[in-house]
Amino acid sequence: MSIDPLVRKNIRRLTPYSSARSEFKGKADIWLDANENPFDTGLNRYPDPLQQAVKAQIGQLKGVAVDRIALGNGSDEVIDLLIRIFCEPRQDRILVLPPTYGMYQVSADIADVEVVEVPLLPGFQPDVEAILAATDQQTKLLFLCSPNNPTGNCLAADQVEQLIEQFPGIVVIDEAYIDFAEQPSWSQLLDDHPRLAIMQTFSKAWGLAGIRLGMLFASEEIIAYFNKVKPPYNVNELTQRSALQALQQHELYTQRLNSLLEQRRLVQDFLTAWEEVEVVYPSDANFILAKVKDAAGLYRYLVGQGIIVRDRSRAYGCAGCLRFTVGTPAENERLFQALQAYRR
Ligand SMILES: *Cc1c(COP(=O)(O)O)cnc(C)c1O
Repeated sequence: MSIDPLVRKNIRRLTPYSSARSEFKGKADIWLDANENPFDTGLNRYPDPLQQAVKAQIGQLKGVAVDRIALGNGSDEVIDLLIRIFCEPRQDRILVLPPTYGMYQVSADIADVEVVEVPLLPGFQPDVEAILAATDQQTKLLFLCSPNNPTGNCLAADQVEQLIEQFPGIVVIDEAYIDFAEQPSWSQLLDDHPRLAIMQTFSKAWGLAGIRLGMLFASEEIIAYFNKVKPPYNVNELTQRSALQALQQHELYTQRLNSLLEQRRLVQDFLTAWEEVEVVYPSDANFILAKVKDAAGLYRYLVGQGIIVRDRSRAYGCAGCLRFTVGTPAENERLFQALQAYRR
């Protein structure tokens, strides 16, 4: 079944920009086609618009075919482009499950696309029946965030599966934190589900938030629309080089990941034992959401100690909650000392 009917008409009809680098791709000695500066600065050439070297490495690592991978200037660009590909302003809708990542709402607001909210049930799990009941022909995208930000939990596999089977639009699963989870990625289901889209990022487990590199794994059809709509050189040369370098240092990635998982356990244990905490939510991510007796007071106290956490107490279902990102061993130790000294 084709995804074409879900795509905006103007995007279906769009003739994409044809860059010099996409018109001639062979080998040559002299490049006089792109109005680049010929003097070698190390960066005088436009980058590969399809980032093929980076995608080859990612494909191998993730077990995803290269033509099912697209890259964006952070996941933020991927979210924005998905909304612009599928949602007609003032007509189509996206569906989100609060409390969740704020960028889905912001990107939809910017595109003038309505956001339908179906809150997570207690335990922060999706309400499949309510989601399907709130869905109509205009509901083009369903954003599932798993592990979810700010709650930290994975969405239950059978609920996600039901939604992948039954949601009539595009199911987008944001897996920004999947490397910290025990559950596998949903990317292995792509073979059977042309309307499934998975997002991952270099910003968290890879430690490269500064390079702005987000991944999209989806059917060839979705990827083709993404490539049609994206700015030609959306992932710059320095970013592509940094990603390649990181991908070749997999041991370093694993070491840091293991350290963060170990530290997560320590933060969890500390918070669980601390008298100011009412609930510590289980986490499959690199942060922990905790309900405390006085969120505003504790937040202000920590700022005074030079430690910034995230106050999530105004998010749906998160009254009284602070979100603690897991730091280095030394940073977490400082956090524990500060917490121990609170109100003493
Ligand atoms: C941090 C985060 C991202 C990453 O976004 P980038 O633009 O790739 O840095 C994506 N989704 C969620 C839910 C996040 O928390």
